[in-house]
Amino acid sequence: MKIAWYVIFSISVIKRLSKGHKMIYNTIIIGGGTSGLMCAYQLAQAKIDFLLLEKMESLGKKLLLTGGARCNVTNNLDVDAFIHSLTIPHKRFLFSSLDDFGPSEVVNFFAENNCPLVLENSLKYFPKSNRSQDVLDVFLNKIPKNHILLNSPINKIYKDGDLFIVECSKKQFKTKNVVLATGSKSYPLTGSSGDGLEFAREFEIDFTDFTPAETHVYSNQVVEELSSLQGSSLNNVVVKIKGTNKKVQGDVLFTHFGLSGPAIMHLSEDIYDFLKDQKVILQIQLGNNSRSTLDDLFKVAGTKNMTILKTLEQCTTNRIANLLLEKFQITNKNINEISKITIARIKEALLSYEITIDRVQDVTKAFVNKGGISTKELHPKTMEVKRIANLYCIGETVDLHGPIGGYNITIALSTAVAAAKDIIKKNLPARIKRK
Ligand SMILES: Cc1cc2nc3c(=O)[nH]c(=O)nc-3n(C[C@H](O)[C@H](O)[C@H](O)COP(=O)(O)OP(=O)(O)OC[C@H]3O[C@@H](n4cnc5c(N)ncnc54)[C@H](O)[C@@H]3O)c2cc1C
Repeated sequence: MKIAWYVIFSISVIKRLSKGHKMIYNTIIIGGGTSGLMCAYQLAQAKIDFLLLEKMESLGKKLLLTGGARCNVTNNLDVDAFIHSLTIPHKRFLFSSLDDFGPSEVVNFFAENNCPLVLENSLKYFPKSNRSQDVLDVFLNKIPKNHILLNSPINKIYKDGDLFIVECSKKQFKTKNVVLATGSKSYPLTGSSGDGLEFAREFEIDFTDFTPAETHVYSNQVVEELSSLQGSSLNNVVVKIKGTNKKVQGDVLFTHFGLSGPAIMHLSEDIYDFLKDQKVILQIQLGNNSRSTLDDLFKVAGTKNMTILKTLEQCTTNRIANLLLEKFQITNKNINEISKITIARIKEALLSYEITIDRVQDVTKAFVNKGGISTKELHPKTMEVKRIANLYCIGETVDLHGPIGGYNITIALSTAVAAAKDIIKKNLPARIKRK
């Protein structure tokens, strides 16, 4: 049924186009993912004449996959805390757009559009229905179908006087404003394959290549030495990249290929960067004890003549306790029978177990990508390219990303609103603009 609708409306758009080779759109949005959809929604509400061009056969393919098809839309952080949690050095760039349309505005927006969000674990907002389809439907219900053209991979954009020409294989479109909302290189089956950077190159806009962020890492050491830990996790432990100042606290998951979990995913972009020219060793806390608590625990265990296994089980998981006995080649005996040197080595392992990382998951399989169009090229309030009037860049195609937890969708929505508001403002009669 939905496909039939799109066929009918695509025909109506094509008719519009064939009538008007001369037709000039106010705005063309390239990419119908999270950010492109929000931009289209805003322009539709303001009755701006726009066209949303999407390369795939349907809109919002990645949005549907998000949060395990439940879509973690945003979080409950205020703007300062949101920005503080980001790892990108230029994070203050986001202040204007988030201040105008940040997490609390996202929550209100979906509530007003009959898709209420509910808070989970005091941080993440998901739709009450638990269906990412309902998040997508908010946009599909409000964007007129005859403003959408599917199966339209844009391969060229260039300037022609004051206008832009946007081309896909068979068609050419003229427009006053262009919004680049083409995403990153993550999950190319959803349509995002890094095209935004090719357009940026043509316009001589500075960018950095996309690299993986928020993803798993591979380690032969885990596969070979720690295979008994597969499927187990450590909660809220400190993970450091040895010899650097990079450190996070969070959960770690041991897998059949290496490591995953929020703490590892959060460090993955740094691990990727360091691996380019050095060996990467992670130092992982195998429990939640500090050095002084461990000293106390071992002291008390000694006075109570506890076995080493019982002592270790107070400090970490049973699986890790057994693994440490194996690693240090000790049988389960009274803790007082074990040499001081071995006890010191066991404590060291509990505080910072060293695991060598071999590689990071590929950029196309990472949940998010680092890199993109340089924020130095854009006005933070409007997302317009400073040197090229009426060209806007929004969402993950810009060098902006955050950790898992609703940050990335919020950034896509917030930057989309910033661009749309500017386009709407430019379109207002001068006397209203002045007010
Ligand atoms: C599995 C997974 C789960 C995730 N879960 C979450 C989550 O729960 N919460 C969260 O905050 N973030 C999550 N993210 C990240 C989030 O989905 C993205 O950051 C966000 O969708 C980026 O929006 P965007 O509009 O920039 O790009 P996209 O949503 O990727 O959209 C880009 C669109 O542009 C189109 N396009 C590309 N090139 C062209 C072209 N040349 N011509 C025409 N169209 C083109 C693509 O087909 C696509 O539709 C997840 C990501 C993945 C992969």
